[in-house]
Amino acid sequence: MENKLKELKTILADVDDLQRAASVLNWDQQANMPAAAAEARGYQMGTLSRIAHETFTDEKVGKLLEALKPAAAEMEPDSDDACLIKVTAREYKRSTKVPPEMVAEKAQLTAVGNQAWQEARAKSDFPLFQPHMEKIVDWSKRFAELFAPYDHIYDPLLDGYEPGMKTAEVQAIFDGLKGPQSELIHAIAEKPQVDDSFLHLDFDEQKQWDFGVEAVTQIGYDWKRGREDKVTHPFSTNLGYGDQRITTRVYDDFFNTHLFATLHEAGHALYEQGIGPELARTPLYGGTSLAIHESQSRLWENLVGRSHQFWTFNYPRLQEFFPSQFGNVDLESFYKGINKVEPSFIRVEADEATYNLHIMLRMELEIELLEGKLAVKDLPEVWNERFNQYLGVTPPDDAEGVLQDVHWSFGLYGYFSTYALGNLISVQIWEAVKKDLPDLEDLMAAGKFSDLHKWLREKIYRHGSKFEPQELVQRVTGSKIDGTPYLRYLQSKFGEIYGL
Ligand code: ZN
Repeated sequence: MENKLKELKTILADVDDLQRAASVLNWDQQANMPAAAAEARGYQMGTLSRIAHETFTDEKVGKLLEALKPAAAEMEPDSDDACLIKVTAREYKRSTKVPPEMVAEKAQLTAVGNQAWQEARAKSDFPLFQPHMEKIVDWSKRFAELFAPYDHIYDPLLDGYEPGMKTAEVQAIFDGLKGPQSELIHAIAEKPQVDDSFLHLDFDEQKQWDFGVEAVTQIGYDWKRGREDKVTHPFSTNLGYGDQRITTRVYDDFFNTHLFATLHEAGHALYEQGIGPELARTPLYGGTSLAIHESQSRLWENLVGRSHQFWTFNYPRLQEFFPSQFGNVDLESFYKGINKVEPSFIRVEADEATYNLHIMLRMELEIELLEGKLAVKDLPEVWNERFNQYLGVTPPDDAEGVLQDVHWSFGLYGYFSTYALGNLISVQIWEAVKKDLPDLEDLMAAGKFSDLHKWLREKIYRHGSKFEPQELVQRVTGSKIDGTPYLRYLQSKFGEIYGL
């Protein structure tokens, strides 16, 4: 048994090395690479990914997993080895279900589909993208069929991002949230709007960068095991033990973009930096799901970064950086400004109170497409109708409506819900932290984040992917994923800001 486990770990370490090497190339592509290298880089990343995939899906891995089954059943279920075998078996099953022809077909459909989407969005012309999206949706249905029998056709898609999570569970969570969250936004719209004009002045890029560095250092980002670079679309990446990088962007005419994107990506990176080193070079060395990951980026971005306490400590320092912009703006006005709620068409620009509604709309439409209840050609009309119903505004055109996100052109169906789930989980976790650290708000107002960071590392980060998302949330908060705490948080925070 020992030998078989050792053999499995050796293969998994090879796979991990190959995948991380591909991630280094991807990071370089987005942060440094000259545009002319795009084609060559495509081949390089494709080759590494293919060898990683072939190595992982080799029959040998299946046989080792089979042989290890009896021993795994005897192991302490929470032990690293038991979890490693469990998670590897899950991933192996998922990776070997899909025939190579279908993998290649998707790559082809989405390469062409993404090109068409770019043109369609630029011209705000949905029919240009429609035939491609029809093919990609059809592919996704066939993909789901590979996993039949299922409770819901959307389950196999969702499972790729949230292992173990069912469509019905997510629907139940969102159903309870949609009405009250929509009501809150409509109530806010009746109130006088807060002023945020001081956030739209001219901000020196280097100063923004320097302030961002101070902020992520304060929350505990370890620069000895990371670095920060500028990119078009910020992300964070785990390149192996000792190397969790963040990326960001800086706009000189709007303050929020840089700082909150930086805190967001640093939140993702804190999670990865906190994973136990003993899990390195295994499939457990990464966040357990997209929603749990997003709960951490959102926790640091919003619950910390958009809190009154964070700015009680940091606002005087920010005023030193930008005296002409913020010198005459008091803390209260600044706090309200960075928390302004305003229904907007674009998801990535949405505030905390409206964000989830963008997601719920997308998930509903995806499910109806998969179920065959909605035809791709009717999507723009249904999008606009429902957008107005939830957010009270109608997009002026498809570019700012149904065509705004890249996901559907890449075949990422089932992905969106993880963003909203992350928001919900962030507040559930926050409530659990506050039970253990009753003086959390005082600590934050004094610029002290190490107790919070330590708590998260201990309860969440160090486990990597050992536990499925629902199981982890249950362990940490005492209940499964639930929207009620988030709703309570929104009502309290924005009720106060807008005087509801
Ligand atoms: Zn994120």
